[in-house]
Amino acid sequence: MPDQRNELQRWLWTEIGPPLYYCSDCMLAVKVTSVPGGEPLIQRPCNAACGHQIIAPRSAICVGKGGASLRTKLQILWAKAKAAVTGRDA
Ligand SMILES: [Zn+2]
Repeated sequence: MPDQRNELQRWLWTEIGPPLYYCSDCMLAVKVTSVPGGEPLIQRPCNAACGHQIIAPRSAICVGKGGASLRTKLQILWAKAKAAVTGRDA
């Protein structure tokens, strides 16, 4: 079933970017846990029979650097949200 994202997920996608890994069909984030010396453990939100490809749009930067920049973006968004509530610039 294509595009199962909810409003929040769509918003995050637009504001922050796609998740590190997601299913090419339902567009939901897929959790990938690396297993030393083995196949990575894949936990998809859709049923396993979905069998669609897993997209890793930021695989090239997902180690270290990508994580940090994502955190920075979240901090900026949070600061903006707080500023909007208090009326002050954080
Ligand atoms: Zn899926």
